[in-house]
Amino acid sequence: MNSLKLTVLAGPTAVGKGTISRRLIELHPEVYLSISATTRSPRENEQDGVHYHFLTLSDFNEKIENNEFLEWAIVHGVHKYGTLRDPIEQAIQDGHIPLLEIDLQGARILRETVPSAQFVFLSPPSFEELITRLGIRGTESYEDRMRRLNTAKEELASAHEFDHIIVNENIEDAVDELAKFMNL
Ligand code: 5GP
Repeated sequence: MNSLKLTVLAGPTAVGKGTISRRLIELHPEVYLSISATTRSPRENEQDGVHYHFLTLSDFNEKIENNEFLEWAIVHGVHKYGTLRDPIEQAIQDGHIPLLEIDLQGARILRETVPSAQFVFLSPPSFEELITRLGIRGTESYEDRMRRLNTAKEELASAHEFDHIIVNENIEDAVDELAKFMNL
């Protein structure tokens, strides 16, 4: 487990992690984008097994008990999110390069448990820009957006813990920088 070669992409909500990782796998199909499990409900455009594995709380807890997660965390103080161990190991066996898009807590856990992993922090050009982007996304309620912004403040303060920081000024440049960092 200690020698798993994987890349962790973390960063505050709405910073563009999803857009950048999707673009990266379009350009580099050898990258395997990990599909997390979560107890939150799917958004309108989300499909089970594609965007997330949507689990009930009791199914999620059973997987915790069975040690099926590489890491898991309660994100934004509400729902559980986690990375399943088996698909990552399988992807590596198949010659793919796993990319995990997870939160700060998950990144900190993996820093301890998988020392061979490398950690990238995706940062917005400014906090104001992050607020604007979160407003534009419009998929969350006001209360939810406030909760996410509070988590984002904490996450931004942790950027120095990462091996590399990418400022997401524009998507193509950020994808390019991530690809170089991953030696793709
Ligand atoms: P969303 O609900 O917007 O899809 O995701 C909320 C947050 O959960 C994001 O910051 C995302 O990085 C994080 N997240 C998604 N999957 C995982 C995971 O498997 N583990 C952890 N620790 N965080 C995750």
